Formats: sequence, C-alpha cells, structure tokens
Amino acid sequence: MVTFPKRTHWCGELRKEHVGSEVVLNGWVHTVRKVGKISFVLVRDRTGVVQVVVSSRSPYYEVAETLTPEAVVAVRGVVRARPPSQVNPELPTGEIEVELRELVILNRAKPIPIPIFDAELMKTTSETLRLKYRYLDLRRPEMQRNLFFRAELVRVLRNSLDSRGFIEVETPYLARSTPEGARDFLVPSRLYPGKFYALTQSPQLFKQLLMIAGFERYYQFARCFRDEDPRADRQPEFTQLDIEMSFVTREDVMSLVEDLMREAFSKTLKKELPDPLPRLTYSEALKKYGIDKPDIRFENFIEDGDENLRTALNAESGKAVRLLRFELRGRGPEAVKEFIEGVLSHEGGVKHYYVVRSENTLLSNAEGVEAELVRLLDLGVGEAAVISVGNYVKASEALGALRNSLGRYLELARRDEYAMLWVIDFPLFELNEEGVMVSMHHPFTAPKPEDISKLDTDPLNVTALSYDLVLNGYEVGGGSIRINNRGLQEKILRMLGLTAEEMYDRYGFLLEALEYGAPPHGGIAIGLDRLVAVMLGHESIREVIAFPKNKEMMDPMTGAPGKPPEEHLREIKWLKIIS
Ligand code: ASP
Repeated sequence: MVTFPKRTHWCGELRKEHVGSEVVLNGWVHTVRKVGKISFVLVRDRTGVVQVVVSSRSPYYEVAETLTPEAVVAVRGVVRARPPSQVNPELPTGEIEVELRELVILNRAKPIPIPIFDAELMKTTSETLRLKYRYLDLRRPEMQRNLFFRAELVRVLRNSLDSRGFIEVETPYLARSTPEGARDFLVPSRLYPGKFYALTQSPQLFKQLLMIAGFERYYQFARCFRDEDPRADRQPEFTQLDIEMSFVTREDVMSLVEDLMREAFSKTLKKELPDPLPRLTYSEALKKYGIDKPDIRFENFIEDGDENLRTALNAESGKAVRLLRFELRGRGPEAVKEFIEGVLSHEGGVKHYYVVRSENTLLSNAEGVEAELVRLLDLGVGEAAVISVGNYVKASEALGALRNSLGRYLELARRDEYAMLWVIDFPLFELNEEGVMVSMHHPFTAPKPEDISKLDTDPLNVTALSYDLVLNGYEVGGGSIRINNRGLQEKILRMLGLTAEEMYDRYGFLLEALEYGAPPHGGIAIGLDRLVAVMLGHESIREVIAFPKNKEMMDPMTGAPGKPPEEHLREIKWLKIIS
C-alpha cells in the first residue's frame, strides 16, 4: 500500500483566509499547463479545482512534468495569494494558489476516451460512449451536481416524512406479480425449476398489506421494475417515493403530498410552490390541454373545430375535430413541420392536418384544402395550426403531447419556472387498443362511492378516487384511495376479465387480508427520477440516474443483459426447459 498524506482541505474550499496555511489535497489532475519554468497543475476533487504551482526549484518539478490529466495525486503545499494580475475571477478559488511542497502520484491515467471537461464537445459525444465510460462521464461537474441534488432531495423528503410520523419499510423485490400495467421481469427459481419470481412493478400490494398490518403511515424509496418496450424516456428499473396512509380521504393524501413538495422545492431550489396547488379534472385537462399531464406554464389551449372546419376536412360525424394553433416564434417553417411530424402520434387511427405559414411559404399536408384552412382559421403569417380528427380522447391526446413538446421546442416557458398541479377524477376504467376494459391506474383503486352503482350499468363512466401529480407537462406522481372491501375488490377483478381461479391464484392473499380488518387507506407514488430531472431542467431521466440503461434498455458498460454461463442455466434447469 502506498502511504500518502491525507487530505486536510477540499480543493474547492480554499480561499484567501487560508493564505499561509499548509494544506494537503487529494484528488485528480484536472489540467497541466507549463509557462516558462513553472508548472501549473489544477487539482480537482468533488468540490472544485485549485491551482497548484510547481516551480523549477521544487524537487518535485520533474515528477510533476510527467503528470497527465486524470492522474490521481496527493499534494502538500502552502496556500499563497495570487499576484493581482493572475487572479482568476471565474474560479471560486481564483484568488489563491498552492505552492507545492510534496507530491505523491497515487495512480496514472490513460488519455480519457470522452471529452468530459469540454461542454461543447460533450454535446456531440454519443450517449453510448458516455454510458460505456459512465464512471468518467460522472466526473463532469454537471453530473456530479445532478447526483448531489438528487441525494439532497431524498434527504429532505425523508426528513419531512420522518417528522410526520411515517415509517420507512422495505418490501420484497422478488414477489408474485404486482401489476402496474406493464410486463413483469421474471426471475427463474433454481430451487423450484419452472417457477419464477416476478420483480415488483411497484410495492403496491405490500404497502396495502402494511396498512392492514397497522403501520398507518409508510414510505419507501423503492425500485420498480417494468418490462416495457423501449419508448421515449423509459428505464426498465426506476425509483419511486412510495407512500401509503390509513384512515385518510383523498384530500388528506393530496394535502400531505403538497406539503412535502412545497418543502422540497423551497429547501432545495428555493422556489415557492402555490398553496394550494391548482387542480384540474381529467375531463377539463383533456378539453383544454388535450392531455392528463398538461404543461400549464403557457396557454395555447386546444380548441374544438367548428362546422366549417369539419366540412373542409370531410370529418365523419361522430369524429372529434380538435385543433392547436401557435406562433412560429422565429423558427423556420421547415423545421416546425419536421417537428410536428416527428412528435404527432397516430395511435387510434387519428388523422392530422397541419398548416405552417411563413412570409413566403405555406407548408401543409392537407392537400387541396390548405388555403381553405388558412382562411377558416384566419391563420396569419408566422402562425401554424394542427388539426386532429378522430376519437375524442386519442385526437386530444395527440395534440396534448404535441403541445407539451412544443412548449419546450418553442421555449414557451422558462426551464426554471415550475408549475405543479393535480389532475383528479380519472375514469376508473378505459378501453385498451383491443377494446378490452382495463384499469386506468391499477385494479386496487377505489371508485367514487356515489358511482359504485354505475359499475354494472355504465362502467366506463365510473370515476376513480385517484389523483396524478403533474409538473411542467410530466406526470411526477400518481395514487388513489384503495378498495378495502373484498366483495368490491373481487367485483373489479372480475370486471377486468379475471376468472375466479386466476383471481384467487394471483391475489388470494390480498382478498383474504381484506377480510381481517382492512382500514380505509390510500397513497401515492412519486417518480423520483422524473421529479429530479424536471427540477433540474433535464429532459431525460438518464441524466439523473448514476448507471442507467440506454434507450435500447441495455447497459453499454457492463453489457447487461448478458448471457449467463451454461453452468448457471443448467442449475436452474433452464437448458432442460427450453430444449
Ligand atoms: N402503485 C402506483 C404506481 O406505481 C402508485 C399508487 O397508486 O400509489 O403508479
């Protein structure tokens, strides 16, 4: 083991008041610069950088000359004030420097494969390379800040919940299916060949059982696993702040979460959220913003097309005609057209028509009627409109998603402006692509008591006691009051198409537990990765996760998912099962 002088100070904390003190720094060589017969070595640790000066009279001069960026060093030296001409106002430590007395090189570094300290070049560095060398990518100040911020936020949330009498409990990851509408990741059991654990999609059922067990106020920073197709900004595993409370109404849960969020924003970002947070019902959100996670920092509401528009587009009766208009704000018409085409979803067979009008062009896919559309919409120069025709929900959602993205693309809101709100009164059920009725949240969500009678007659119009927390156009949380009655829970599961056998096999334990004194309870889960990303103004959650998978759900660094050794497959009898 090399012995080395241990740090007495952090690099980033040295200031004028340290002048004259002897300090020891441990860290990495950030840059080496030679001016005449003097070497200037910037030494970095997680707090910042400081300049170390090695003069040609130093016995370490020659060794110092062999230093290259990212070598690991222990440095002893004396803090000196820089001559006025050499003060660097851009560096927090720019008024001082450290005159070298001893240098121990703890490790060398090869030239690093990504330009981590060149912000411009990093913009063009592929994400694969960043993830392959994530441990280097994470040396970037921005990534360090992201993870420090995340840790601080978690600390604030945890303290806040602890002070309110919540207890943190861990629940299993290896379980039976805990459905949240995704596919389960399965883990084969070696001891019971042919049987599998499912990695929990969320702690949902366990937290409900903790309420039945009498804990009353629970939370957990839980990892959730969902085997979904690669899409947008998804990760196969992500973190939720999971919360559950007993003897509460919907208002109680929402008010607790508001307090938590207000405290978190105030303590970490020094931003004050409104009290109370605004609320929209699901149907209002859909009508005005087209989507259940609206960015309310800007207007551009979704409108309904009138009869003339319907006629111009030959819209069949029964189809909704919805419309979004916006100004180009100096963006080129071609670029806007491409943006629109790239973002619009055609899910549910919705048809979209756009018109983009600039000084000298009119770009449109509405062949033959573009001029008519301009006239009917009274579309000025520098304006654009997108009209969606189809199923009301699908057409609205396509425009709503476009609207949220447009907000970012056209910079309709400032990144550091935060608009948090609740969306409530979601339907309990919806129809999926195949026309099958599925839960809008999950099957354990309670319907509004006054709607229970509609379960048999008009199930799609039953409203749930659920709520989503939305921030700047992203869903950052969702939860509900739960069913705490076996008869009702069985009924809902039956309505979702489960046979009695499937129901008892999968959820028998929950149904049974509901009969042993299940208190009224409800809760929420906050998506921690997304919350941190939005708070920091990042569009991707990969920026705030230390070791994420890439967009293809793989890890370029470790090579996960990888092929296990055959021996292992034999042990779990996998080879036998598939052959
Ligand atoms: N378990 C739900 C989810 O993962 C959240 C909740 O209902 O508390 O979205």
